[in-house]
Amino acid sequence: MIIIDGKKAASEIRIELKSEIDNLKLQGKSVPGLVAILVGNNPASESYVRGKSKACEEIGMRGKIEKLPSDIPERELLAVIQKYNLDDDYNGILVQLPLPKHINEEKIIEAVSPHKDVDGFHPVNVGNLVIGKDTFLPCTPAGIQELLVRYNIPLKGKHVVVVGRSNIVGKPISNILLQKKENANAVVTICHSASNDISYFTKQADIVIAAIGQPNFIKADMVKDGVVVIDVGINRIEDSSAAKGYKIVGDVDFDEVSKKSSYITPVPGGVGPMTIAMLLKNTFKAYLIQE
Ligand code: NDP
Repeated sequence: MIIIDGKKAASEIRIELKSEIDNLKLQGKSVPGLVAILVGNNPASESYVRGKSKACEEIGMRGKIEKLPSDIPERELLAVIQKYNLDDDYNGILVQLPLPKHINEEKIIEAVSPHKDVDGFHPVNVGNLVIGKDTFLPCTPAGIQELLVRYNIPLKGKHVVVVGRSNIVGKPISNILLQKKENANAVVTICHSASNDISYFTKQADIVIAAIGQPNFIKADMVKDGVVVIDVGINRIEDSSAAKGYKIVGDVDFDEVSKKSSYITPVPGGVGPMTIAMLLKNTFKAYLIQE
């Protein structure tokens, strides 16, 4: 059994990008810029946004945080987005979700220029993904594909069972791996909360991708020997032995399932670190397109 090391893969991607950016600097060119728009004081959102901006700076990109008050009217937020849509210094724009209740998230996602939509959430980019056009892939699913490719895990003709159908993980990863393209071309089954017998599907899978948000949901008797397991889940469970009183676990019962699997991602340290790395990659791609 091989543990897929997302931390290592993410760090390799950052090193690759840093060297591309060092090259731009040597040529006297401008460097890519990402603006993260943060509305309100949600501590988790603040910490995510800080992490993204710091990651930009570490590889030589510009990472700006545009912090806005939680009671900002929707039209003012739309105006801020429009300002960055027109600002050539920023190649990528991300609006940290969730937004306060008085703001329509869909409207905000659609206000970001598809050319700067480095989260890959704009309906134009989602549509491009579905029809197989080059686009900005959402970061977590893009990170999953990247991990599978970096570990030389074959995808063509393999049966991938995705558990979860959210717009940010389940649906996009299903669409990415379904494409008739290199590093994809899989046979994809999607399960969700209305699936009657999830193990009926997962037992047939060459690759299981769990993105449901239910701690330790996938058990060893739900998978076949030699399965590849990608665990997207990030769940907090009580743990009195931990200093913080909790620990983070995935959607897969790692101790049990790892004994049957050929490859498996741990939580933490698997898919998680790839998300920011892919955000940086998307920002670099946006820069190249806009240049
Ligand atoms: P959502 O809550 O948006 O979606 C969960 C999906 O799982 C839904 O499609 C839901 O079905 C399905 N589901 C929930 N419970 C069950 C069940 N008991 N049986 C079958 N299907 C079920 O979650 P996300 O996709 O946003 O996130 C999933 C997990 O991944 C979470 O733990 C989240 O924290 C983590 N995550 C990790 C990221 C990373 O960077 N590593 C990034 C994003 C998410 P239905 O549609 O029918 O409701």
